[in-house]
Amino acid sequence: MPATLEQTRALEDYLVMSDEEMHERIEIARKELGKRVVILGHHYQRDDVIRHADLTGDSYQLSVMASQTDAEYIVFCGVHFMAESADILGKPQQRVILPDLGAGCSMADMATIDQVEDAWEQLRDIGVLEQKVAPITYMNASAAIKAFCGRNEGVVCTSSNAIPLFDKYLKEYDKMFFFPDQHLGRNTGAKFGIPLDKMALWNPHEELGGNTEEQLHNAKLILWRGHCSVHGRFKPWHVDKVRKDIPGVTVLVHPECMREVVEVSDLDGSTSFIIKTVENAPSGSKFAIGTEVNLVNRLQARFPDKEIHLLAPDLCMCATMYRIAPQNLAWSLENLLDGNVVNEIAVDDETKHFAGIALERMISMTEGR
Ligand code: SF4
Repeated sequence: MPATLEQTRALEDYLVMSDEEMHERIEIARKELGKRVVILGHHYQRDDVIRHADLTGDSYQLSVMASQTDAEYIVFCGVHFMAESADILGKPQQRVILPDLGAGCSMADMATIDQVEDAWEQLRDIGVLEQKVAPITYMNASAAIKAFCGRNEGVVCTSSNAIPLFDKYLKEYDKMFFFPDQHLGRNTGAKFGIPLDKMALWNPHEELGGNTEEQLHNAKLILWRGHCSVHGRFKPWHVDKVRKDIPGVTVLVHPECMREVVEVSDLDGSTSFIIKTVENAPSGSKFAIGTEVNLVNRLQARFPDKEIHLLAPDLCMCATMYRIAPQNLAWSLENLLDGNVVNEIAVDDETKHFAGIALERMISMTEGR
């Protein structure tokens, strides 16, 4: 039987406690819970939470790694769509906890399932679906959108495997409808030589997404008008400035950055690609990195022999992920010790089934790469 509010510990009591006390209590709770719990820390998570993580990585990696443990509880220090993915990919008996339910993703929130279904029907009404159209969603979307892709021959992609998946779908389908990140879609499409006039932008607040029927019939790629508020902070002038200020610098950015930034950078790739590039660079290398500030700070600390800068001088932090503080983590773990599962993220069975199909397609198409 789920715990009542009276039975659970109150988060408000924790919010007034010091970080030091929280760290001690997290360590005690962690020890007592042992292998029953696994704490996941996303690469963009703050240091005072990452220090308690058993596993760190990107959202997909973390979900897979957690599913390979025998933990009963997966405490995901990330954002909402990541916790949903952990529930979809986890073992049936594993329960997923998001320590702050307000930790959402502004990009994922830019596409709702109702908007996506409405867009699909509009494409059907004007005859676009008479061509072979594949819906493809970035991992950073709700479970309902992943399930939509699973039902409609589509797939999920990550920033690490977008290229092989685009390759396959561009060969086998007439068109792709990509959501919710226009920038990852545009940057990946450009790598296949798709010209900008063959990429339509779908604004969910306008009829036909703000396009003419002709534009939608002619498009090879229809891009949902979503973006990451963190990576959207980087501008081409940041690249110009850093090149002037730091001679010999390599500009390395995430493909969630806008096309104009990626075009003037030296390298672009997923979070794992960014980490590996820095790891493998010789001592003395200089990088200006366009991604979330916590990750860049940790790279600076890990590689003191390399000169590592954040591409933009202003703070580029994932503010929603930052909502998970040591206080939230301590509250979640101590409630677990009492037998109370707070902030559980549970995807319904039907959504889980179809989202699982889209994820399985992704895994089978990228295996061995
Ligand atoms: S960094 Fe951007 S895409 Fe990633 S969770 Fe935060 S808002 Fe979402």
